[in-house]
Amino acid sequence: MTRSYNFYAGPSTLPLEVLEEAQAEFCDYQNSGMSIMESSHRGKDYDAIHEEAIANYKELMGIPEGYSVLFLQGGASTQFAMIPMNLLGQDQTADYVNTGAWASKAVKEAKLFGNINVIADTEKSAPATIPAIDSLEYTSGAEYLHVTSNETISGAQWKEFPKCDAPLIADMSSDILSRGVNVADFGMIYAGAQKNLGPSGCTLVIIRDDLIEKVVRTNPTMFQYKTHASKNSLYNTPPSFSIYIMCLITRWIKEMGKENLFEQNVRKANKLYNVIDATDFYTGCADKSCRSDMNVTFNLPTTELETKFFENSIKLNMWGLKGHRSVGGLRASIYNAFPEEGVDKLVEFMKDFEKRS
Ligand code: PMP
Repeated sequence: MTRSYNFYAGPSTLPLEVLEEAQAEFCDYQNSGMSIMESSHRGKDYDAIHEEAIANYKELMGIPEGYSVLFLQGGASTQFAMIPMNLLGQDQTADYVNTGAWASKAVKEAKLFGNINVIADTEKSAPATIPAIDSLEYTSGAEYLHVTSNETISGAQWKEFPKCDAPLIADMSSDILSRGVNVADFGMIYAGAQKNLGPSGCTLVIIRDDLIEKVVRTNPTMFQYKTHASKNSLYNTPPSFSIYIMCLITRWIKEMGKENLFEQNVRKANKLYNVIDATDFYTGCADKSCRSDMNVTFNLPTTELETKFFENSIKLNMWGLKGHRSVGGLRASIYNAFPEEGVDKLVEFMKDFEKRS
């Protein structure tokens, strides 16, 4: 099999070793005579996976005591609503920073539940930027501050996070576990699994216990953090197969060493930014101060050239380089499992394409 270079923004590349391991035990999980997919979520085989995945996230992310790790469903998009539903009363205020398409979706949902103060707005800025931390003016008494750590579409990424009195909540869907963060600085971190953590179908939520306990209105049972935290994410049937793959990926990270992974991520991104910076032919879409190590976005001099670039890249078995339909241009999503040799191949192609154009 020739493995494609998958630059899609998510779902995206998973480690081949993990796929092969899952394949090897797909029909018969550890001599149980059944697939883990068929296994009861209350049985010992699945339970061991569930517990190991939680323990591995705690270890890999340095999650301190006083936080819960939850496996939820409905994607990160459901968290856009679930956060204010649980943490923001109708007459209360939450601060949001609008850095782009994903942050603005979070703002839109939150407005259904309480007062939203957008304390900085760089959604429309070109190049894409993240506001300077010392320019932020927080609302006194705000229930929380919400940020999007990495804007998957524009390719702008927070390099440091704001420090404020209110709990900081971050949508880390597109850069979770790609770099070191101090979890204790956050009230809550959440991420759809389908980029850095595993397949789609599960949302990882890391939430501080005092926020779990907060009750600002009566929500349906499934929309309360407390429901899931009190039952260790087993109140109802969890997305067990997704969590199984997520668990294998945590093992894969532990084996390679998280520091090695984090270094590799920076190295991969820099290889692409070096090509972009070396010439006027390519223009990065995000400001240098905040360009993403996960989603490298760039333009060519004309849309015709961009189309040609994209079409030629497919012929070389590189998939998904077209920018998001809302912004155009090109985007290379190079999450944790994207192989460095694929970045080298793209670098070579970019240099060659420029020469031939
Ligand atoms: N936030 C960010 C930063 C994203 O990139 C995405 C998906 N691309 C989402 C939220 C929405 O995630 P989901 O599809 O899991 O709802």
